[in-house]
Amino acid sequence: MSNIEQTLSIIKPDAVERNLDEKIKSIFVKEGFKIVKEKKIKLEKIDAEKFYKVHETKPFYYDLCEYLSSGPIVAMVLEKENAVSSNRQIMGATDPKNANEGTIRKQYGISIDKNSVHGSDSIENAKKEINFFFKD
Ligand code: UDP
Ligand code: MG
Repeated sequence: MSNIEQTLSIIKPDAVERNLDEKIKSIFVKEGFKIVKEKKIKLEKIDAEKFYKVHETKPFYYDLCEYLSSGPIVAMVLEKENAVSSNRQIMGATDPKNANEGTIRKQYGISIDKNSVHGSDSIENAKKEINFFFKD
C-alpha cells in the first residue's frame, strides 16, 4: 500500500551561505523526493521563535532562533513514500559528529547548531511546519 507523505525541509543559513542549496536539493531528488513547493526567504527573529516554539524551554533556544534568522534559508515541501522518516534518515543525526556516512549532516554540517538542514520529526509537525511556510 502506498503511503505518500509530505514533510518540511529547510536548508539552513550555514548551507545557503556556502551555496550548497542546489547540491542538497539534488540529493533529495536523487533519493526520490518530489520538491512540491520551495521558497528562499530570510526569517525575522520573531518568526524563527514561532517556528521553534517547541524548543522554547531549551537552553539553546535563543541562539537557535538567532541563527535561523541570521541569513537566507530555503524552505521546501518534500513528497515521497514515508517522507517524514525518509528525510530524517537522509539528513542524519542532529550533531554532524554522530551522523551516519553519506547523510547530509555528515557531509555538510559544521556543528550541532550549524547542521545545514531541518526536517519535520512527525506527520503532525510536518503539517504544522508546511502551513507555517506555505499558508496560501
Ligand atoms: N540544537 C542546538 N543544540 C542542541 C540541540 C539542538 O543548537 O544541543 C539545534 C540544532 O540546530 C537542531 C535544532 O536545534 O537542528 C533543533 O533541535 P532538534 O532536537 O529538534 O534536532 P533536529 O530535529 O533538527 O535533528
Ligand atoms: Mg527537531
